[in-house]
Amino acid sequence: MARIAVGAHVSSSGGIYAAIERGEAIGAEAIQIFPSAPQTWRATAHTPEALARFRELHAASAIGEVWLHNIYLANLATEDPEMLEKSVASVVHALTVADAIGARGVVLHTGSHKGRGLDEVHRQVCETLARILDAAPGSAKLALENAAGHGGVIGGKFAELGTLLHTVRDPRLAVCVDTCHAFAAGYDLADREGLAITMTEFDSEIGLEHLAVVHANDSKLALGSERDRHENIGDGHIGREGFRTIVESGAFAGKAFLLEVPGIPDEAGKQDGPDAENVARLRAIRDGGEWPAHIAKPAAKGAVRGAATRRGRSAADRPSRGTRPPSGGSPRVGRA
Ligand SMILES: [Zn+2]
Ligand SMILES: [Zn+2]
Repeated sequence: MARIAVGAHVSSSGGIYAAIERGEAIGAEAIQIFPSAPQTWRATAHTPEALARFRELHAASAIGEVWLHNIYLANLATEDPEMLEKSVASVVHALTVADAIGARGVVLHTGSHKGRGLDEVHRQVCETLARILDAAPGSAKLALENAAGHGGVIGGKFAELGTLLHTVRDPRLAVCVDTCHAFAAGYDLADREGLAITMTEFDSEIGLEHLAVVHANDSKLALGSERDRHENIGDGHIGREGFRTIVESGAFAGKAFLLEVPGIPDEAGKQDGPDAENVARLRAIRDGGEWPAHIAKPAAKGAVRGAATRRGRSAADRPSRGTRPPSGGSPRVGRA
């Protein structure tokens, strides 16, 4: 059984290729990056040189799969035609960048029907997905991420993603499972029997062959909370044993597990996203090794809460705004 790869969301500020070095620095075996600042519509124009440099550095690195996470603003179920066009453009841009750097694909929050119900927006969402795939005719996959089950956000139930995939019927359309979101939505992945039930439902509603990638996040809140609060690996309600159950499950064999965790606080209490310690924790779970010793982090110079962007790091840097934990997928910051 192919083992999982332990990966992480990393910043690509200072040039998209800078993400490779950041991934290597924390021991990631796969990485996820934003193609553009996640809270703005303006797409970053990556130069041909930067894209080529990414491919070179990637080829020379120990990093395997690369994934992009679409910006948070996109909503394929929006009622606003202008917002829909901007959403389409953002995903087409992400898929185009993915192909240009040899990434496996793009993870997308499909959007929110704002309480109107999936039936009401089903046709629009499916037509829009097909249009996006036509407009970016490469090989990068488009992986729809499951949601925490909150409000009108599409994807709390696997059946919602399944009906989209089965209607669009494009081999590039796939699914990303976020462990925190699934747990929040009531799927008990932390329990052996609960996981078996979860993956049986996934297989019947979506099809296991469409599972492309995993977001590996522990959950601050209990099963079925319907709220998206990522926690460091082993410190939440999924826990160390829960992740062992997930990692050992055949359903996830060979997949990249991408961390979008808040990070272990430094001496000033600041969290900076996926780090070497979380990578080491998930590796220890996978490899049956010892739980890693705490890796002390000196406080960043002059660090105060919220200082990250003021220190010259652009918003493209981080999986979410300011010092919020990198949810890389969270409706709470994405308003999706
Ligand atoms: Zn996620
Ligand atoms: Zn999330």
